[in-house]
Amino acid sequence: MTAAIIDGKAFAASLRVKVGELAAAFAAKTGRKAGLAVVLVGEDPASQVYVRSKGKQTVEAGMASFEHKLPADTPEADLLALIDQLNTDPAVDGILVQLPLPGHMDEQKVIAAINPDKDADGFHVINVGRLGVGQPGFVPCTPLGCLMLLKDQLGSLSGLNAVVIGRSNIVGKPMAQLLLAESCTVTIAHSRTKDLPAVVRRADIVVAAVGRPEMVKADWIKPGATVIDVGINRVPAAEEGKTRLVGDVDYAGAMAVAGAVTPVPGGVGPMTIAVLLRNALVAAYRNAGLELAADAI
Ligand code: NAD
Repeated sequence: MTAAIIDGKAFAASLRVKVGELAAAFAAKTGRKAGLAVVLVGEDPASQVYVRSKGKQTVEAGMASFEHKLPADTPEADLLALIDQLNTDPAVDGILVQLPLPGHMDEQKVIAAINPDKDADGFHVINVGRLGVGQPGFVPCTPLGCLMLLKDQLGSLSGLNAVVIGRSNIVGKPMAQLLLAESCTVTIAHSRTKDLPAVVRRADIVVAAVGRPEMVKADWIKPGATVIDVGINRVPAAEEGKTRLVGDVDYAGAMAVAGAVTPVPGGVGPMTIAVLLRNALVAAYRNAGLELAADAI
């Protein structure tokens, strides 16, 4: 048996089309484009690439992109003042501060300064709390993208055993909350979990968000399980001096056992920015007091 490949790239493209349609409808209703502001402090090369893609895809979706690039030695107070200004700017619906921030800044303090109703990344404690108690808010983009792929693949998730490997605030914990809200029986595994292979073998749904290349082996996976691989790891390629990307799951092995698997690249990765645009657009509708059906996007 060969598992189905979950095509996150195609799903993300269709999500961007929906965002584009709703962004056009928003502009027609309000006379302005929905706006996403992205703040980058410093010159981290990976962050620069992300910020560039976010800006490009925001504009392609028919939304306004506001990029703020600050030098690495910017005082924290200046960043907080910029966030304050974006919080009250009526052209800005979503705000994202690219992480990691330089060492002299307190990330939690900076995130706490963002208006929770413009928090497109869903990292503010108010949104973390809203997710916990089941109130509408904003959910971190990567786990929400994983949930969209799972629901598209499986339909109802109710009653399924889900194992999330990783307990970060950005992926593991919100992923577990989302699966719980879908009535899964959720286990969160992490670096101190005993006998991880046995824990994973119980799972109908495995979400791996660890950052260790090909850690999850084929014989850990229950036959027919759905495997979502969030990991992005760069490893040496066969060709001298080249590298390639692999996930946290042994992809070839999983394909022989699982029911469906996300590839790396082309699985979870493309979903993150598409969901960011979705979150910014939802923020625009909500903050403008416009109706947006729960299942619209
Ligand atoms: P993190 O380093 O914050 O968290 C890793 C988690 O893995 C920790 O909770 C830790 O307890 C757990 N862990 C570490 N070693 C383990 C082990 N041996 N067994 C079981 N659990 C172990 O990482 P993160 O930010 O959650 O990201 C995880 C991975 O997902 C990384 O590869 C990252 O690059 C990737 N990622 C991808 C996207 C995307 O696709 N857009 C977004 C975010 C993160």
